Amino acid sequence: MKVAIMGAGISGLSCAIMLERNGIEPTIFEKRSRVGDRFINAESMFDILNRPIKDCLPYIKEKFNIELQPISEVDKLFIHSKNEVSSIDGKIGYTNMRGRHEESFERQLEKQLKSKIIFNSTDQYETLCKEFDYVILATGDGEYASNLGNYRCDLTCTIVGATVVGDFIKSNPHVWFNYDIIPKGYGWLIPFSEKEANLVMAYPDYPNNIKLDRQSMWQKFYDLASNNLEQNFKVRDSFQITRYMMGICIRPKIDNTYFIGNCFGTISPGLGFGQFVSILTGVYCAYDILGMGKYEKLVEPLFENYNNSLVLRRYLENLTDEELDKIVKDLDNKLLDKLIDKLCDNKTSVDILKISTPIMKLINKIKED
Ligand SMILES: Cc1cc2nc3c(=O)[nH]c(=O)nc-3n(C[C@H](O)[C@H](O)[C@H](O)COP(=O)(O)OP(=O)(O)OC[C@H]3O[C@@H](n4cnc5c(N)ncnc54)[C@H](O)[C@@H]3O)c2cc1C
Repeated sequence: MKVAIMGAGISGLSCAIMLERNGIEPTIFEKRSRVGDRFINAESMFDILNRPIKDCLPYIKEKFNIELQPISEVDKLFIHSKNEVSSIDGKIGYTNMRGRHEESFERQLEKQLKSKIIFNSTDQYETLCKEFDYVILATGDGEYASNLGNYRCDLTCTIVGATVVGDFIKSNPHVWFNYDIIPKGYGWLIPFSEKEANLVMAYPDYPNNIKLDRQSMWQKFYDLASNNLEQNFKVRDSFQITRYMMGICIRPKIDNTYFIGNCFGTISPGLGFGQFVSILTGVYCAYDILGMGKYEKLVEPLFENYNNSLVLRRYLENLTDEELDKIVKDLDNKLLDKLIDKLCDNKTSVDILKISTPIMKLINKIKED
């Protein structure tokens, strides 16, 4: 059986590992010169977003025998709004590296793989379709699915970030919701050593936002983060991504073509998480080819999760800075604080996104009418 995988990122490599272990050696086509050949950045995985699964990395190890080492466990997440700050405490997730970093998830996956990767590939999907029994699209965006008329794009985003040098606690990321500075978007800081962190802001490309001056927004966000952490970061290695697509495919598989990772629509529009689901789609696609499960069936809950996350996006966008302040302040309320910590902890399987979706939908409807 001849299987082609386009894209040696986290979904493509996870798929390749599962195929290879079960006797199928795929051919992997990667357009860049090596795995993870892009800017270094730190990303995170929060267990509360992957329910009913409790603890995502041990789950991947136990269920799929794929080993991924994080940079750190997260034991405190700081949440900042315009005038408030609070935290969620406990074992709530992980931070990990991406891109050129030696320990990036894609580099770790590559080490678990024997199949050959063809680098600097210019091979086209249409040609691969003729030469292979199956083609797996894992190129990291919705473009191919879009061109095939198989993608619903819900929004695009601008992402601006940099590595900053300062003093950090590795297990303590920060997130900012401040619409005065980043309208309808958010910013985050993920430390990846005691001295380095990624500082990033992301916002949807709505008409009012695209008129804004990106550089002055970044400067304001940088000043805010520096003030909140009471230090002057040194900026290194900045990056920008424009028109980052958030959407989902209509059909996860068409004839002999599979859509996995961001080609499937794994990036959640609510808060921009996509790594865990990318790995799942890679593994599920391999299961289908191996006759171990039906891809369409296995990804059903992922469609639901994506749609719930889209409701969360609209809910967040409809909030004002005052409402955000109130929510953040409430997180520190004695009773709520304990409950939220418990819900976010890696020992519970309560799907708070699913439970709160009908309520958010109702609030969205009232606000939008
Ligand atoms: C700045 C930023 C921060 C993020 N932060 C988080 C986070 O904190 N937590 C989280 O869970 N998610 C986060 N995400 C989302 C997450 O990174 C993605 O959902 C995930 O990487 C998607 O995996 P993938 O396999 O689809 O794509 P990727 O891992 O990006 O891999 C795609 C691969 O395909 C290759 N490729 C592209 N075109 C072709 C082609 N034509 N032929 C061959 N190869 C090709 C690329 O070079 C790349 O190697 C973030 C994304 C960004 C951009």
